[in-house]
Amino acid sequence: MTVFRKIIDREIPADIVYEDEYCLAFRDVNPQAPTHILLIPKQEISSLAGITGDDHSLMGHLLLKAAEVARSQGLEENGYRVVINVGSDGGQEVYHLHLHVLGGRAMTWPPG
Ligand code: AMP
Repeated sequence: MTVFRKIIDREIPADIVYEDEYCLAFRDVNPQAPTHILLIPKQEISSLAGITGDDHSLMGHLLLKAAEVARSQGLEENGYRVVINVGSDGGQEVYHLHLHVLGGRAMTWPPG
């Protein structure tokens, strides 16, 4: 069981900013930008590499909610970044699919 499942189940605390039937958004405990929110499906999917055609509406829902969360956090005017780390080369540490929503500063490219 991952730490994110424990957050969904309220076994460990998190600063939750959005929740619905399908997903949960909360502040990253180790923020990499002034605003750093993680958006996760409640369904356990280990990574983007683990999605199937059955997940297409869930994945669309997550992208819509990422944009809504960014808007609600006041990030829309200056922009923001949405990141999904996949696997070891992608820098993924928690194997429960999550979207990082980062904003409040100018991002650099290429990413590290
Ligand atoms: P990733 O490297 O893409 O797997 O990202 C995992 C993220 O989860 C990191 O940015 C961590 O800071 C964050 N994280 C780990 N544990 C917690 C927690 N208990 N609450 C909030 N964020 C967490």
